[in-house]
Amino acid sequence: MTPEELEFYKQKLMKKREEILSRLEKHSSAQNQEKDEGQEDMADRALQTYQKEYIYYLTDSEQFILDLITESLDRIASGSFGFCVACFGAIQKKRLEAVPWARHCIHCQELQDQGLL
Ligand SMILES: [Zn+2]
Repeated sequence: MTPEELEFYKQKLMKKREEILSRLEKHSSAQNQEKDEGQEDMADRALQTYQKEYIYYLTDSEQFILDLITESLDRIASGSFGFCVACFGAIQKKRLEAVPWARHCIHCQELQDQGLL
């Protein structure tokens, strides 16, 4: 993989990470706003808080992707980015363009999805 390609994926990864983190910031600013809203019925308030957290908190898959992005950036730095962690073959470019944080090539991903890896 050329340095230009690595830079391209690095930018993609960082952009995605910012997208996810900006949702986290919305979550914390929503919490700060709540403190200024004055007194409300306790039950209503608990329900509202629950719903807001449900909307603003990172989902499990976002947290998962965030971890994979961090790992991919490490792999770019160490020179192992773009290779499957299972079979060590090169990950298909089309796959990396769609999912730059992919750890597996398409073949190994299919095996993993089937619980065979
Ligand atoms: Zn593989």
